[in-house]
Amino acid sequence: MATKTLDAPLETQLWIGGKKTKSSTGKAFPVTNPATGEVIAKVAEGGAQDVDLAVKAALRAAEGPWGKMSPRQRARVLFNVAARVRDAAEELAQLETKNTGKTLADSRDEAAGVADTLEYYAGAVSKYFGETIPVGNPGLEFTLRQPVGVCALIVPWNYPMTITTWKLAPALACGNTVVIKPASWTPLSALRLAELCAEGGVPEGVVNVVAGPGGVVGEGLASHPLVRKISFTGETGTGARITKAAADSIKRVSLELGGKSPNIVFDDADLDLCVEKSIGSVFGNAGQDCCARSRAIVHHKIYDKFLADITARTKKMVVGDPLSKGTEMGPMISLKQRDSVRGHVELGQKEGARLTCGAEALPSGLPKAGAYIRPAVFADAKPKMKVVQEEIFGPVLCVLPFKTEEEAVALANDSPYGLSGSLWTRDVGRALRVAKAVQTGNMSVNSSTSVYLEAPFGGFKTSGLGRELGMKAMDLYSEVKSVFISEA
Ligand code: NDP
Repeated sequence: MATKTLDAPLETQLWIGGKKTKSSTGKAFPVTNPATGEVIAKVAEGGAQDVDLAVKAALRAAEGPWGKMSPRQRARVLFNVAARVRDAAEELAQLETKNTGKTLADSRDEAAGVADTLEYYAGAVSKYFGETIPVGNPGLEFTLRQPVGVCALIVPWNYPMTITTWKLAPALACGNTVVIKPASWTPLSALRLAELCAEGGVPEGVVNVVAGPGGVVGEGLASHPLVRKISFTGETGTGARITKAAADSIKRVSLELGGKSPNIVFDDADLDLCVEKSIGSVFGNAGQDCCARSRAIVHHKIYDKFLADITARTKKMVVGDPLSKGTEMGPMISLKQRDSVRGHVELGQKEGARLTCGAEALPSGLPKAGAYIRPAVFADAKPKMKVVQEEIFGPVLCVLPFKTEEEAVALANDSPYGLSGSLWTRDVGRALRVAKAVQTGNMSVNSSTSVYLEAPFGGFKTSGLGRELGMKAMDLYSEVKSVFISEA
């Protein structure tokens, strides 16, 4: 089945103060479907003036009805938005697949996840509160949780609606107002989510969306004196730039950044399960996943078998039209990103790693302008090779052997990143020892999933600052106020 084409590209505007708003630049940029290369939208490009307008609209909203709403009313609004998202789930899924190239099955899961996230944080509103504290003087000492103020949410292109909601839902639950800066490749679902928020009863100005270049809109938000909090997901280098821009006005900054996650396989692992799950954990979303388990660290006794099995399974992966049933991997986000991955594969070969399969740019029968690539496996990778150290952000797995548990942990930790990881063993003691020793914010044992809506998510080392998801995310979007009332 070929990807459906649109009659004419969508024309979108900015979303400021609860309505579609023309951009001050008068410019629009094209957004393409990476499966076909077709332009699917012309998106109004925001500039510095629009950032200022959106931040001021958000500040007014914080001081208006939203700030005065009772927590229970705020929760009700979030439940309403979740219901709107459920009604629009198929539309959101189709939009996300056309904009990102991810499979429709994945987009459907993500649209349901957006509603789940809104519901979780709607429920969290009434379960997040301060405490009473015994102190030295007679009286009552207690803490309150108060909103931070205007929050800027800067989002990448790999999970646009999911990551937007991971930030938006707790920010709103805590009573803040927001300006969302979507990635330029994928602004469409955030613009639609803003409309759904308004339909669900979120007052005007509480949610604003300004699309436009990161260096203008993103930096503009990071340095704007009225923005109190930046929540950023993206590359580690961009995170560092944002932190510097935010420093002068002492903004709260939380960062979810890159990763090069280990997948440690011991010789007592259930190998069939491990291979099947490892495929998803490194090639899911075409490898464009900050948690991708892109370094398989495998016990030397089962190294040859693991390599043969994972190579065979990788060769069978169905790469194709993301709207077609049965497709396991769609295109990458863009030809530029695809070519960057091919560049890494050539580099790996020059460094001496052995390609056992993959990296062909265009599986047969697919549109030439589609950003397709077959998933690739490198054997005999060495720890200091660039393909092992650098985040490729595409479907490339490096396989390395180890002999002892200590060596496996040392290899896993030999990375500037520390986001996620898996380990496979039936030995409970070893599972616990290794899970504790690996320097990452998330670890899964005999599973490739360590991201759950209800559990904290974030990185050690250069993978980030702060924890999203679960109740921990509420800490990112609230200030603690300590109040003492004297008995005297
Ligand atoms: P980027 O850092 O390039 O961009 C992320 C967002 O930041 C985009 O909206 C981008 O805008 C904006 N931006 C770019 N430059 C600036 C700037 N100077 N100031 C403010 N904002 C800016 O990351 P990618 O979009 O390429 O996303 C991929 C990266 O994200 C990978 O490294 C991946 O590991 C990481 N990631 C981390 C996750 C985590 O939870 N740890 C989850 C998902 C991704 P524009 O698009 O206009 O350039």
